[in-house]
Amino acid sequence: MTHEPSSHPNELSPDTVVVAAGRPAREHDAAVNPPIVLSSTYVGTGQVVDGDRAYGRYSNPTWDPLEDALSELEGATLPALIFSSGLAAVAAALSLIPVGGVLVMPRHSYQGALVMAQEQAAKGLFTLRTVDIANNDEVLAALTGAGEKAADMLWLESPTNPMLEIADLRVLCRAAKAVGAITVTDNTFCTPLVQKPLELGSDLVLHSVTKYLSGHSDVILGALVTSDDRLRHALLHYRSIHGAIAGPFEAWLALRGLRTLALRLERSQANALELAKRLDVHDGVDRVLFPGLDSDPGHRRARDQMLGFGSILCIEMAGGEAAANALVEALRLWTPATSLGGVESLIERRRRHANEPDSVPVNLLRLSVGIENVEDLWNDLAQALEAAGAAGAAGSAGAAGSAGAAGSAG
Ligand SMILES: *Cc1c(COP(=O)(O)O)cnc(C)c1O
Repeated sequence: MTHEPSSHPNELSPDTVVVAAGRPAREHDAAVNPPIVLSSTYVGTGQVVDGDRAYGRYSNPTWDPLEDALSELEGATLPALIFSSGLAAVAAALSLIPVGGVLVMPRHSYQGALVMAQEQAAKGLFTLRTVDIANNDEVLAALTGAGEKAADMLWLESPTNPMLEIADLRVLCRAAKAVGAITVTDNTFCTPLVQKPLELGSDLVLHSVTKYLSGHSDVILGALVTSDDRLRHALLHYRSIHGAIAGPFEAWLALRGLRTLALRLERSQANALELAKRLDVHDGVDRVLFPGLDSDPGHRRARDQMLGFGSILCIEMAGGEAAANALVEALRLWTPATSLGGVESLIERRRRHANEPDSVPVNLLRLSVGIENVEDLWNDLAQALEAAGAAGAAGSAGAAGSAGAAGSAG
């Protein structure tokens, strides 16, 4: 279980690494792909010593190629650790905060991570300070504690979900280090092809592998990546003892999905930028949130620390919540569903979730742009915007109609 990250003879580009990493040794008649190993236990001592696999909760050969590939892509020196879900990885990362410690977290963190942190803080495990992560002064003050206890962990997410704010990762990681806090960066929205948090100074990188890395909306899986031996050891222990491990089939599917990550991202990012530009000048849309637009408040920072702008964008609908619901109802190609990062384009109004912070506007729609033909995606949006505009006008004339639409989306 102490497998080493695979090494290639030459430095390869990330778009090659996603294809080449984690292949079995080239022996005559060997399979080109790693096999799925289904075994709950292994012949031997039963002890996790000298790299023995011992038991299926500690290790599985199907995990190794995926853990190697994620490590290589993030530029880590140690194998990644995969978990049964992104949130299982979040739980493992939060376990590194000492009891009575302090966690600093973006107020627009991924909802599940925020709820978990709030619940653990309510139990008295640690103090939670939520911040506007795009505001360096506010984050620095929360880190040092301004007279109170300094932070033990800084949680970073950039762009944030769903407001797509951009955190100044280099500056914030350096500031966290100065107060002795561990930094965790949720890199789900970017993937290592768009952002490399370890290079920007983060101690840990977290992924919901469920999203872009798997890419086909058919897997739930998470991962943590680090080059810090002590942190990795603690996380491995946590995984083995708490038991939120990956199923071999999920690990195999995720590696299969990863093979096309570069191609999928190339298309989905190009689609997202084009749609953002068109939506930005559409009358039915009040505001587009997308770091790829020159006018976006996070654009310069994003250009400085990212290798692209991702393919999540948000719009605030003119005509409010009713128009947002009407748009979703009128779409025929875009699928109304939560989640993101799959080949198919998804859309959802975030405030339909009870736990979504009040600072997320009620008329905000999050779009996960897929790899379909961009004109087909646009045509569907354009006809739905028109229908939503008409529904908005009808809604203001007869309030009962728009209230009904809002109710059905909850
Ligand atoms: C989905 C998601 C998670 C949680 O991952 P699961 O695999 O659903 O448990 C965490 N962070 C971000 C940014 C996500 O999008």
